Amino acid sequence: KPVVLSGCQPSGELTIGNYLGALKQWVNMQADHHCFYMLVDQHAITVRPEAEALRKATLDGLALYLACGVDPEQSTIFIQSHVPAHAQLSWVLNCYTQMGELNRMTQYKDKSQKSEANMNSGLFTYPVLMAADILLYRADRVPVGDDQKQHLELARDIATRFNNIYGDVFVVPDPHIPEHGARVMSLLEPTKKMSKSDANPGNFIGLLEDPKIIAKKIKRAVTDSDEQARIYFDYDEKPGVSNLLSLLSCATNQSVGQLVPQYEDKMYGHLKGDVADAVVAMLEPIQTKFHQFRNDQAFLNEVMHKGAEQASERASKVLTSVYDAVGFIARP
Ligand code: ATP
Ligand code: MG
Repeated sequence: KPVVLSGCQPSGELTIGNYLGALKQWVNMQADHHCFYMLVDQHAITVRPEAEALRKATLDGLALYLACGVDPEQSTIFIQSHVPAHAQLSWVLNCYTQMGELNRMTQYKDKSQKSEANMNSGLFTYPVLMAADILLYRADRVPVGDDQKQHLELARDIATRFNNIYGDVFVVPDPHIPEHGARVMSLLEPTKKMSKSDANPGNFIGLLEDPKIIAKKIKRAVTDSDEQARIYFDYDEKPGVSNLLSLLSCATNQSVGQLVPQYEDKMYGHLKGDVADAVVAMLEPIQTKFHQFRNDQAFLNEVMHKGAEQASERASKVLTSVYDAVGFIARP
């Protein structure tokens, strides 16, 4: 079976963007892939969260993975910091990554603009740790949203560079980006992607949000002000309306082409009401299951324990071959 690896940062409550861009694919890939899904807490400290907030977001994220249908019997689910090989490989890969490559990463540029007060080097080398996450499992496929394409390209470049020097140590991974929902946009600023760490909560919908709040946020979503307020799909001309149509499409499994004629002489308010209903219906079963899992700490511990064991086993083999390749002496 091909190997799959992916993760989310516990940097806030997972959003419908994370669900449609990543988690939904994870669940679908479980049956015919060997899957590793993690919560990347080491990535999350690049923005220096409060310790208690990070702990809570990590456990919430774990319970959400389970609630969304990630199955610990089929997949390995683990916390990144429980497997020290990620940080260990990351150091090695730092030495095979050029400053210029990291300088070109748009996520780093965006995030450092947002938090000029905390431009730490972890934010800069984030893509190297991400490359380590992937290469450590010799993953064939990495299901991610569209925003991670550039980081994945870098992981491929690093793997290829390393292999050219030392032989076939790494598998060069392919991105797996969904056809629909790969880039859910912000509700109030529909030209930028939805992000769980957005300072303005009006921009995102969390997977655990109350249905009334979800409806309110969607009602306030920016629609585009052209004269006739027509509903059609065009990301350049009508980013807000197109984002809502795309959300409705993902949540109802109807294509945008099927949906648009249904709104021919309707108003934005109709569309928003339908989007809200569809999103709430999509989240309802996830929310119910979340609370069951979140309240069962013994089960969460079991999942984390088993996941860390399984992940460490695979990771330590690859790390050993990397250490050997670069010339580290094996500990006698
Ligand atoms: P942060 O703001 O802290 O970076 P995030 O919402 O961008 O949070 P990540 O943890 O960085 O979430 O990414 C987890 C996964 O979700 C990645 O695969 C990423 O590509 C995907 N993803 C993130 N945002 C979106 C989005 N708006 N649409 C689709 N997929 C997304
Ligand atoms: Mg992100």
